[in-house]
Amino acid sequence: MPTATAQSLSKLPPYLFVEIDKAKRQAREQGKDLIDLGIGDPDTATPAHIIEALYQAAKNPANHRYALDAGLLELRKEISQWSQDRFGVALDPAHEILPLIGSKEGIAHLPFAYLNRGDVTLVPDPSYPPYRNTTMLAGGKPYLMPLRDKNDFLPDLKAIPAKVLSRAKIVYLNYPNNPTSATAPLPFLQEAVALAQRHNLIICSDLAYSEMTYDGYRAPSIFQVAGAKDVAIEFHSFSKTFNMTGWRLGWACGCKEIVAALGKIKSNIDSGVFQAIQVTGIAALRTERGFIDRMNAMYQERRDILCGGLKKLGWKFRLPQATFYVWARVPGRKKDSLTFAKLVLDKTGIVATPGVGFGACGEGYIRFALTQPNDRLQEAVQRLAGI
Ligand code: PLP
Repeated sequence: MPTATAQSLSKLPPYLFVEIDKAKRQAREQGKDLIDLGIGDPDTATPAHIIEALYQAAKNPANHRYALDAGLLELRKEISQWSQDRFGVALDPAHEILPLIGSKEGIAHLPFAYLNRGDVTLVPDPSYPPYRNTTMLAGGKPYLMPLRDKNDFLPDLKAIPAKVLSRAKIVYLNYPNNPTSATAPLPFLQEAVALAQRHNLIICSDLAYSEMTYDGYRAPSIFQVAGAKDVAIEFHSFSKTFNMTGWRLGWACGCKEIVAALGKIKSNIDSGVFQAIQVTGIAALRTERGFIDRMNAMYQERRDILCGGLKKLGWKFRLPQATFYVWARVPGRKKDSLTFAKLVLDKTGIVATPGVGFGACGEGYIRFALTQPNDRLQEAVQRLAGI
């Protein structure tokens, strides 16, 4: 019997999706026709020119060696150009950009660069689980900021007690948001930057879904707020934008001291992104904008099918302007979200994620990912009519 695991590891909350995963496995073994709207993983392929770029890059022996810790300069330059074109934000490729093994990797390592035991991070509830869990792994204490419908799923920054703010080091923001699909207007980001300046906080802005937007909406970067570059680090991902979840490529950018601190942690833990993948990232960023527009048109059509159907069934939700998630209230309010998700799976074969898996304030909600084609979503609506 090996020795006990670290206290920080044993303190992590149980993985709430285990039961759903188990039920999903059982249903599949029974030969049930599952409609999986559980995981936020695009169901369409990475574009062919990106695959071709990897093929070519993989053949070059110069790409086979350890990658530089700071990442390939050509990729950083391309990211800088992309940021300029997309947000009008200038980033110095030498000091303000760091390629990552997927944005999750950087998000997960950030607390290790800044937290001392007992330091606090401000974490939205519900939210993407690594914010809270890696705070705990790094010895910190998450302070949960409820995201409520009545506040447009934005945290009430004014409600954070002064005592908490005095011990806080990082505040996590994620708009467009997983799981609620909410977006943040620029004035909210301005308020967050002002708070960070007043209280010496680092803003960790997670923009994994920046390009997945509908009805003409364009998501802003935190760096469109004056002064943000002194306090913020922003995380970007190739995963959802280019259907590249399995490739593991993302980047951090912003305040050069924070980027350097994250780079120092990374240089002690990993040895950078496979260089052929970094070269491929350049090709991905040069993808014509039409590709993203076509993907968004596809998700928008799916959104309208699922949301149109749910509306007819009397479900309550907000029509997402971004992300590929529909965050709906558990109808009837009779059941907790885990029981309801299991019931849905059992009765309809539809896999959806119980809101409580993203935090206690996610209780009473269920999340559907728009990761199935139109006919399967139509079928899902018909099946949901039967529960
Ligand atoms: N941030 C959010 C909010 C996410 O939902 C995800 C993935 O689902 C990520 C970050 C991680 O993305 P990546 O594949 O770049 O690690």
